[in-house]
Amino acid sequence: MTVFADERLLFEPAAPERDAVPLIFAFPNDYTVGITSLGYQVVWATFASRSDVDVSRLFTDIAEPLPSNPELMGFSVSWELDYVNIFKLLEQLGIPLRSCDRTPAHPLVFGGGPVLTGNPEPFADFFDIILAGDGEVVLNPFLDAYQEVRDQTRSAQLKRLAQVPGIYIPSLYHVTYRDAEGAIESITPIDPDIPAIVAKQTYRGNTLSQSTVVTQHAAWENIFMVEVVRSCPEMCRFCLASYLALPFRAASLEESLMPAIAQGLTVTNRVGLLGASVTQHPEFEALLTYLNQPKYDDIRLSIASVRTNTVTEALARSLTQRGTKSLTIAIESGSEKVRQIVNKKLTNDEIRQAATHAKAGGLKGLKLYGMAGVPGEDLSDLEATAKLLIELKRLGPRLTFGCSTFVPKAHTPFQWFGVNPEAEKRLSQLQKQLRPQGIEFRPESYSWSVIQTLISRGDRRLAPLLELVRDYGDSLGSYKRAFKTLRRQLPPLDYYVHQNWAIDQVLPWHHLQGPLPDETLKKHLFNSGVTLNGGQY
Ligand code: SF4
Repeated sequence: MTVFADERLLFEPAAPERDAVPLIFAFPNDYTVGITSLGYQVVWATFASRSDVDVSRLFTDIAEPLPSNPELMGFSVSWELDYVNIFKLLEQLGIPLRSCDRTPAHPLVFGGGPVLTGNPEPFADFFDIILAGDGEVVLNPFLDAYQEVRDQTRSAQLKRLAQVPGIYIPSLYHVTYRDAEGAIESITPIDPDIPAIVAKQTYRGNTLSQSTVVTQHAAWENIFMVEVVRSCPEMCRFCLASYLALPFRAASLEESLMPAIAQGLTVTNRVGLLGASVTQHPEFEALLTYLNQPKYDDIRLSIASVRTNTVTEALARSLTQRGTKSLTIAIESGSEKVRQIVNKKLTNDEIRQAATHAKAGGLKGLKLYGMAGVPGEDLSDLEATAKLLIELKRLGPRLTFGCSTFVPKAHTPFQWFGVNPEAEKRLSQLQKQLRPQGIEFRPESYSWSVIQTLISRGDRRLAPLLELVRDYGDSLGSYKRAFKTLRRQLPPLDYYVHQNWAIDQVLPWHHLQGPLPDETLKKHLFNSGVTLNGGQY
């Protein structure tokens, strides 16, 4: 318990009423990771602020005292490969993995977070309820509706919950396939009272999230986090953080950010500004000025994401003075052609300037991020990346280049593309060119990007595969072995990961409406100039 005793709370939990709903809220990883998730903190505080809910937290390593008969059990899922830990936690509590095997003696298992909002289908058989959308607008209506049907049968409870906007009950939808190994034919509700489409819910207020707990045991020790922006107006065509969270919203400086930071600084001196694109906040300069007041001289500041063309010398100097040693920026590629394809509005000159400003402002390191295997990329684009990085090494501070493989994500214009199998070779090629030049090159594992894609484009047929992978030891080899065991019962890995899908194909998330309609995503794909399957749109 000492880990929990070390927490400093920034909200007032309510005392649970005598008949409060016993709820377990889990994070499928250890405490250090879970408590560093702003989403987990905020959802937990929402539950803990209601006197009609008695919430206990569960992590893979520690837990608060858990109720013997929980009615609800929730998971916040921010990393797709944590599903193995979901299985472990359910089993530890004696809860069947599949929702169809649960009885009234078991809690209703619900989940939310970016993974389940993007494409919950590979996990559809394991959850009774999925919450799609922003916690601010989904959580309280969910709990209120549950209170109404608390004493009813499981099936009546689920049918009532399915009427709440943003609540998706996977067992109430029937999926048919062209054949066992083929594409999806249709996804329809099992009964006419169930909505055919579940729309992700969007919060539109001007106060965004802030830490509800500060602790020395977080991965970023004692950090107070505040969400400065949600989504990103740039709309790079592969970017889930932008597309899934649209529209772009900025927290009000006066009403939200300044009071939040002032409150956070009463318990710590470390502030993290969070968001997909923090420096895009329309009043970012004013925010920096606020943080630069003499009374905040000893604060340490971390910024989650900085748009390359906003790196001025003044910003670099502010960060240096506040204890930041290096800056991370995503350039995606050193090729202007590739950046145009993905809609990244950034020129090589702006990247050079950012490196020069970072050095002039006193930063010691510059971490750049890019991708290999972007649709439309060819070998000359990789040459361009290597050339630019070698040039930046001369202009800027110590250079690190992290490079991942393009992974298609649901609800983005690139959702129809598969992973280019050449990406693995391309990562090695970059390595050969960059390391001898003294550039620290950190490639992300191509093989795990393949598995991430399997999950990001997966459908319900993956449920038995995921169970087998866990039984086989959860290694890369386990996926291969599980596909072999289930041969002819589901499509091969190639279908999910490498094939470009037809533009009119029924996608696994066809019944789940993201912020933009498919027709708009198709237009954005068309605007990229890259053709899909011979140019058929
Ligand atoms: S700039 Fe970054 S956060 Fe914004 S859309 Fe592009 S990749 Fe996403």
